[in-house]
Formats: sequence, C-alpha cells, structure tokens
Amino acid sequence: MKAWKHFCTITKHRRLVRKSCFKIGLIKQGLTHDLSKYSPVEFCAGVKYYTGDRSPNDGQRRAEGYSAAWLHHKGRNRHHFEYWIDYSLEKDALSGMAGLKMPRKYVAEMFCDRLAACKVYHKDNYTDAAALKYLERSVSRMLIHPETLKELAYLLKMNADCGEEETYRYIREEYLKGAPVGDVEIHPWSKERIEAFLKNGHKETDNGETNHDQR
Ligand SMILES: [Zn+2]
Repeated sequence: MKAWKHFCTITKHRRLVRKSCFKIGLIKQGLTHDLSKYSPVEFCAGVKYYTGDRSPNDGQRRAEGYSAAWLHHKGRNRHHFEYWIDYSLEKDALSGMAGLKMPRKYVAEMFCDRLAACKVYHKDNYTDAAALKYLERSVSRMLIHPETLKELAYLLKMNADCGEEETYRYIREEYLKGAPVGDVEIHPWSKERIEAFLKNGHKETDNGETNHDQR
C-alpha cells in the first residue's frame, strides 16, 4: 500500500536526519526535521506520486504543472536553500531574486538531510562521496548564496575525504561555533566557477539527474 510505504520512507528519512542532528547538537532541529511532510498537502501528493526511488514532487510537477507539496514544503523548512530565495537588493542579481546567506545551523541540517537522502536512494551503493557528487552534478542550477554553497561544499568534501564521524565532530566543535571555513578546490568545479555561474545564469546543462534532495 502506497500510503504505508510513503509513511515509512518519510519516517526512515527523519530517523536518519535525527541521528545526525543529535550528533552535532541540533536537538530541536533533529526532532522537528521535515515534520510538514505529514501535513495533508504534502502527504497526499507523496502517496499519489509515490515511486520509491525518487522524489514524488517531480511526478506532481509533470502531471499538474507545479508541485503544491514542494511549495508548501520549501516555504516552511529552513534547511532548504530554496526557503532563503528572496528579492535581491543587488541591481544585477539574476532575475531580481537571489539566495540569501543561510544561518549555519540550517546549513548543518541541510548537510544531514542530503546525507540521509543519498543513503535512502543509493541503499547498498552508498559511499561517503555520494552527497558531494550529487552536489557537483546539480550545482549549476542552484540559486544559492556563494558563501552558503562554499560552506555546504566544504562539509560534503570533508565527509567524502574523512568520513561522517570526523565531519560531525568538526561541525559540532568548530563550524557551529563560527570557525572560518577554508576555500576548497572541489573537482570538477571551483570557486571561480561558482561565481561565474551565479553571474551568468544557468547556462550549464543538467544531465537528467534523479532528484535526490526531495525537491
Ligand atoms: Zn526537507
């Protein structure tokens, strides 16, 4: 039964994120992560467009022209960079809108969210580098503040290189206490490339990647 399966998917995802959030000391965020997925507008769409291997929101977009579930979700959950898109005060901003710089506690929750989503979708093929690779493939279409992107990339790179436990320790003891985040060369894109695409718009092509981060 799809409703039960969808309920289990959400609950499993929330359990994984909760465990990670507790490790970095974000107790309240760990307990409340993605709770809006149980609301009727999100839950019903999740059941109707359930496939098991990708976000149901894509199905709703295709069928209905937009995803009411996603619009509801991203408007309420601060760990999504899309929550932070707003009118820009910069005159040359892309289409008048810009990604605002996210508070670190939500960047940290986004890190936990992305790891959990990759674990659920990749199952036995999951590796510590999975979430970094997904970011590399989708970065060209993200309307996100460069500093926020740099911080997210730094955490995912550390996770790929040093593993989860070391990254949780870093987030808890350094990142969330305001330690400066270093520049990191992340193949195949770099800081300059991030800045270039934010300036020039979304020119790079998407390769039809499965939607992993529940957009
Ligand atoms: Zn979410």
